[in-house]
Amino acid sequence: MSTPTIDRERSGERIRRDVQTLAGPEYTLSSEAIRRYAYTDVYRATLDYFTRAWQELGFTVTEDPIGNLVARNRPPGEPVFGVGSHCDSNRNGGKWDGTLGVVSALEVCRCNAELGLDLPLQAISFLEEEGSGFGQMVLGSRIVAGRVSEQELRERIRAIDDGRPFWEHAEEAGYNPERWQQCAHILDDLTGWIELHIEQARVLQDTGRRLGVVNAIAGYVHGDITITGRADHAGATPMDMRRDSAVVAGEAIIELERLARAARSGTVGTVGEIEVSPGLINAIPGRTRISLDVRGPDDDAVHQVVRDVDQFAQRAAAERQMTATYGQRQTVPATPLDDRLVAALEAAAAETGEQFTTMISGAAHDTMCVAERVPSAMLFVPCRDGLSHTPEEDADPADAALGVQVMLGAIHSMARRSAKS
Ligand SMILES: [Zn+2]
Repeated sequence: MSTPTIDRERSGERIRRDVQTLAGPEYTLSSEAIRRYAYTDVYRATLDYFTRAWQELGFTVTEDPIGNLVARNRPPGEPVFGVGSHCDSNRNGGKWDGTLGVVSALEVCRCNAELGLDLPLQAISFLEEEGSGFGQMVLGSRIVAGRVSEQELRERIRAIDDGRPFWEHAEEAGYNPERWQQCAHILDDLTGWIELHIEQARVLQDTGRRLGVVNAIAGYVHGDITITGRADHAGATPMDMRRDSAVVAGEAIIELERLARAARSGTVGTVGEIEVSPGLINAIPGRTRISLDVRGPDDDAVHQVVRDVDQFAQRAAAERQMTATYGQRQTVPATPLDDRLVAALEAAAAETGEQFTTMISGAAHDTMCVAERVPSAMLFVPCRDGLSHTPEEDADPADAALGVQVMLGAIHSMARRSAKS
């Protein structure tokens, strides 16, 4: 059996219609942006939209004890291939981030039926990926992966809107948070998992590629370097008598750029916060704090950059009779994706004759929490000017339709291979 070929024009049209519908007033709390998050009426309406669509295809649709949506065309216990993403949004979001992945998963299921392929499929729409409701990113998939504690769900994780615990909100919405550990079972039957998502950067657009096959999701280190010098009068203190902490901060920022460029495999480093104290035009900064955000698919390379910039800052501070200290906030390891599945996606993409590339994801996704248990990969489609988390977000349904073709091709070849073995 050769690779199934979908009618991309028709798929693109259906994807456009789904995305457009879900940008309507019924599905967003804001008229200026897409704003929907867990346990709101508009989020409920969005899940209902997908439920109806999957039921029309003869899928059984359920929600797990906290509200992750699961649609499948085989009974529980039978192996299925997983597709999906999330359909909540940033508070000031656009209509593509996440939702396009669920819509594309639905389109994979539609094409599976239309082409009579009868591939065993399971779609998932994860709850609360953006953290807009409860301030915690990838919450639904982290619950599935058991990466939260019951105490966090009962007490610590609270709604941004009213400060009440996640637990109470989940109960009020009709869920059973006391059974949260059973959410893990939604991955039990998956033989593989593919999430399609907008890229959220400009690599695809700027290189004229229509698809990115993602082979790893970057891990990261968040920390701070604080340089302590001496706050003196900016006019009265001669240049050779200063301990200006901002100068060392400046050197460290330049060094971070050099180190990240020199590091292996797509490591990136950013100083996004600079806090200068006392922060006055006529005072020499006695203390400067810079934040560090270092990411990449290679954990060793990421940690090496952090160590090196820390040591550089200490040396540079000492040369100027100052001190520098590093404090870590958070570290998350990289997620390598499945080689065989990545190769299957590359082969399916090559078969279309369209321009694609293999790349890493710098941003976090639900797939990070799936990949631990299920062979996983992701597919990126370009988004205009790399914009995301804004109403300006834009993407081309034709690229998503190409993505659907590639996903279906990869799933089909994986199924054929496992049937042979
Ligand atoms: Zn997303």
